[in-house]
Amino acid sequence: MKKILVSSCLCGEKCKYNGGNNYNIQVEAYCKDKEVIKVCPEVLGGLPIPRHPAEIVGGTAQDVLNGKAKILNNQGEDVTEAFLKGAQTVLKIAKDYGIRQAILKAKSPSCGRGKVYNGNFEGVLVEGNGITSQLLLEEGIEIKTEEDL
Ligand code: SF4
Repeated sequence: MKKILVSSCLCGEKCKYNGGNNYNIQVEAYCKDKEVIKVCPEVLGGLPIPRHPAEIVGGTAQDVLNGKAKILNNQGEDVTEAFLKGAQTVLKIAKDYGIRQAILKAKSPSCGRGKVYNGNFEGVLVEGNGITSQLLLEEGIEIKTEEDL
């Protein structure tokens, strides 16, 4: 059975910043014939539930990985370390399981692919990826979001 990495919140786990989930019926249908490895990078990075929402500030996910930009929460606290730790942990899990494809949550500063919020906490999207998505893409792992299904 094909193994696939999926954002835990899309599977109904209450790991969102506000304690909720992002259960998605299309994701469930897509995963029916696959072995699902659920991951929440932010929780794996040590952040609590609930937590303050965070955005990439001052650059792209690639800039964050290169130490040139940060992740701040809406209180102005720097949570870059936790996001990086979570991304590295997810990458290790992907490698351990031989994962080649992931379904990750759109627009998240961790899981988003293609579009993320602009860092001003004003609900405006810009082109870019979340930190975990960026790291997985750089390893050649295919990423879809629930919006692609
Ligand atoms: S989008 Fe990613 S980091 Fe955010 S709650 Fe879902 S799995 Fe966790």
